[in-house]
Amino acid sequence: MSYAQNVMEGLKQKYASEPVFLQAVQEVLMTLQPALDKDPKYQKYKILERIVEPERAISFRVEWVDDKGEIQVNRGYRVQYNSAIGPYKGGLRFHPSVNLGILKFLGFEQIFKNSLTGLAIGGGKGGADFDPKGKSEVEVMRFCQAFMNELFRHIGDTIDVPAGDIGVGGREVGYMFGQYKKLTKSYEGVLTGKNVLFGGSLARTEATGYGNVYFAQSMMESRGDSLEGKTCVVSGAGNVAIYCCEKLWQIGAKPVTVCDSRGMIYDADGIKVDVLKQVKEVERASLTRYAELVPGAKYTPVTDYPAGRNAVWSVPCEAAFPCATQNELNLEDAKVLLANGCKCVSEGANMPSTLDAVHAFLEAGICYGPAKAANAGGVATSQLEMAQNASMQAWDFETVDNKLRGIMKHIFTSASETAKEFGNAHNLVLGANIAGFRKVADAMIAQGVC
Ligand code: GLU
Repeated sequence: MSYAQNVMEGLKQKYASEPVFLQAVQEVLMTLQPALDKDPKYQKYKILERIVEPERAISFRVEWVDDKGEIQVNRGYRVQYNSAIGPYKGGLRFHPSVNLGILKFLGFEQIFKNSLTGLAIGGGKGGADFDPKGKSEVEVMRFCQAFMNELFRHIGDTIDVPAGDIGVGGREVGYMFGQYKKLTKSYEGVLTGKNVLFGGSLARTEATGYGNVYFAQSMMESRGDSLEGKTCVVSGAGNVAIYCCEKLWQIGAKPVTVCDSRGMIYDADGIKVDVLKQVKEVERASLTRYAELVPGAKYTPVTDYPAGRNAVWSVPCEAAFPCATQNELNLEDAKVLLANGCKCVSEGANMPSTLDAVHAFLEAGICYGPAKAANAGGVATSQLEMAQNASMQAWDFETVDNKLRGIMKHIFTSASETAKEFGNAHNLVLGANIAGFRKVADAMIAQGVC
């Protein structure tokens, strides 16, 4: 049994109750073996055994009072996974499905993603099993404050810098920033994704979605093709999906779908981004509202989807952008996409494709941009926000967007060069994982056992 398989077997025994964490680790470990064979130091220093264990996982009670005067109790977490190359960095997710296993999967992914950006940021992730759906503005504020009442003692601008993820956007970051300042008396860049009024960076809101499209462009160009004139399907209707659609239009492609947890929109003329923003960012409504505002658009509720499938992936397209959540695209979906002639899949969400779907894309030899590489524009721009905060500067939109383009290009180059080094030129899963891994592993070795 190889070193990687051996570590994987041990983890399966130990963390059998954390399936998505095991899935994320499996995807990484199974691609690292060529790098482990090439340099025996990684096994000698037991890097795999060490890197799969978070440096620290904090779990805490969050209690708050709802609008009816009832006491509510939630579970909060921060997984400080790896600080070998910089302070812990990664988002906070507020969603009823959140548990330690989900945050370990996300934190583990974040280590490699952050390393791949070439910037000095370690990996972390946090959140709570709080469901923002149906909560009033004041309830959301009270929850954010209660969450920060514990989190503040574990974070800091050179220690651990949280940001948004599913269920956490500019509004929630603002409430948490206010509470952190109140508790610590410190005005620092402790969170990213802030409002530009108090230290946020221009282009951070757009960064994950835009970055995903920049990455897809690089993939297509490397094959002598482009996204221009292509019909694209996008899943999700949150921050990543919205700005992915916006950038697709800007480069001459046409996004025709979006979806939320209740249903999907198919708009043959192309998704109207201004309407989508109005529905999701302003009204915080369901996509049925989009169908009301755009009479030609077709709404399909999830209850009408084929069993176990996301109907978005059945819409014929040349490029697909999964921007909703983990495991939203399975083998059946992958087969339909490939049969319909899809040439490019670029992941805006974290681990949206199941392992067998990933293998189907790799086998077909299409452009496949794994999340760690393709969606790293968000966290990279968070680091640009940290840099602006630390130097007390505020860069203009163009400056940040140009840096983001440069970083996405760097990520593509380092993933594809590494893939080539290991004789598997188009396998960006292998390239991204090995490139991200080596920097962190070498830093861990240089810092000793501590
Ligand atoms: N949640 C985002 C991600 O998955 C952004 C994290 C950040 O900006 O720190 O990378």
